[in-house]
Amino acid sequence: MTCKNCGSNDIVIISNTQSKNRSLGSWLLWILFAFCTFGIGLLFLFFMTLTNKKTLTKTRAVCKNCGNQWDI
Ligand SMILES: [Zn+2]
Repeated sequence: MTCKNCGSNDIVIISNTQSKNRSLGSWLLWILFAFCTFGIGLLFLFFMTLTNKKTLTKTRAVCKNCGNQWDI
């Protein structure tokens, strides 16, 4: 692999983990849904709480020569 910016072979592979939280808007929608379905929605809400955190792992390449970064 070579850097697209400077053509150097001195590349480091890094992976960073990002966690995303559900937005407030979708939470309000689910709470409303829970009230409308009288409890059935609460089960969904419980499930949503368990799966709230989404983990994304991105692998990136960093050029040690010029500092250019890109996704791979
Ligand atoms: Zn470079």
